[in-house]
Amino acid sequence: MDIILKTKDLTKKYDNRVVVDNLNLEIQKGEIFGLLGPNGAGKSTTMNMICDIVKPTLGSVEFLGRDFKKNRKELVKKLGYIPQDLAIHGNLKAWENVELFTSLYGIRGEELKNAINESLEYVGLSERKDDYAKSFSGGMKRRLNIACAIGHHPELLIFDEPTVGIDPQSRNFILNRIKESNRKGATIIYTSHYMEEVEAICTRIAIMDNGRIIACGTSEELKKLVTNDVDKISLEEVFLTLTGKKLRDY
Ligand code: ADP
Repeated sequence: MDIILKTKDLTKKYDNRVVVDNLNLEIQKGEIFGLLGPNGAGKSTTMNMICDIVKPTLGSVEFLGRDFKKNRKELVKKLGYIPQDLAIHGNLKAWENVELFTSLYGIRGEELKNAINESLEYVGLSERKDDYAKSFSGGMKRRLNIACAIGHHPELLIFDEPTVGIDPQSRNFILNRIKESNRKGATIIYTSHYMEEVEAICTRIAIMDNGRIIACGTSEELKKLVTNDVDKISLEEVFLTLTGKKLRDY
């Protein structure tokens, strides 16, 4: 089994409040790994620590067999991070946004031009490439946010709740693109509080609550923790049984 990313005792405290508690995750090369948990579980903080955007209180991250922090300059080129908060600039055109982010990875000239076109094509925005991002719908902005993170062809793509607050069409489009990237060889980490999304695309799922991983496995393995009758139970019910809480309020 090839491990692409490992967190070792990853912990974050804010004012003595533990929001991520001693996380030891192992992400296998080629999988779509889902991190499922309610709002406030610590998913974004975990992703931000993995990408070295938030400093861990304790612990470390190993990516491609090396300490991420110590080898950041090199390893960051192999990582694509799609943050929950949009990183795009409204006063730049779609292609200029992709250019800005892709060039940060040292890509220039013809290669940059191709990367911009490919990335916009990938998210279905080629025809809107000359439009300002501020004129885009919520779903289009989310898709542009993704285009900005993939131009450098990362080996690991991290999506932090990429479908929050968007229309079903954009949502399905994004989920299909994620599966397509995975088919082409990228490893994916996908965080969500939507059980049905995680169940639809992820090969392995970790259930997170209060900063801790409560259970981890395939959807079937998680269901077996609760019952032998796996066809009759949803992940939502597994979550409720294991935590005594609903995954989200309806
Ligand atoms: P999730 O992504 O699962 O919704 P987060 O990682 O965003 O969860 O948040 C986990 C907890 O950490 C929440 O209680 C949140 O309020 C807290 N938190 C996140 N960022 C900060 C911060 N910069 N300062 C203080 N508390 C924070």
